[in-house]
Amino acid sequence: MKSQTSYLQIFVRHVPAGAVSYCYNLWLEHNFLLKISEHRRTKLGDYRFLAKNGGTHQISVNGTLNPYAFLITYLHEVAHLVTFSGYKRQVKPHGSQWKKMFRELTLPVLNEEVFPRTILDALQRYLANPKASSCSDLQLMSALQTAGDDQSGKLLLDLTEGASFKLNGRIFIKGQIRRTRVVCEEPSTRKRYLVPVQAVVEELLNC
Ligand SMILES: [Zn+2]
Repeated sequence: MKSQTSYLQIFVRHVPAGAVSYCYNLWLEHNFLLKISEHRRTKLGDYRFLAKNGGTHQISVNGTLNPYAFLITYLHEVAHLVTFSGYKRQVKPHGSQWKKMFRELTLPVLNEEVFPRTILDALQRYLANPKASSCSDLQLMSALQTAGDDQSGKLLLDLTEGASFKLNGRIFIKGQIRRTRVVCEEPSTRKRYLVPVQAVVEELLNC
């Protein structure tokens, strides 16, 4: 059984920084197992009710998704969980009750602190009528993946301490991690900054 801290770390690692506490609180509220899966070509995530031991909710999400696609897939699956808890198997998996719940769960993250402007427009259109026929809405997901891929580079989290990297045209050195942020020093000014671990940066190779 994972600890609460390790669940927090999952969200820090996989969702946009502005959505970490929201996702974590949903997990606390609904109390389910969250599995991070290897890349699966056929699906992005799933929700299951495991009947053993009095019943457990389990959600899995592909760990290879970029933070935007991960977040939407996560909310898609939490909407299944909540819908299942309320209606059991009396309603369709992607019926009107699920759509309503998915919209409700997504609204709090539909802002520019979480998503780039370009994705927000696509998301808002999609939420007007989510057409999921399966847990993989490929059109939306490819838009989300593409938006994430524009930022070629690495997550700051994945660099080793002491590594140099470029962010917004400036050069920094990665220092210690403090919860969800990293202390980084800009050598040219010797100033220190707290940068979210999720920042996508360009690693500079030391000559
Ligand atoms: Zn689904």
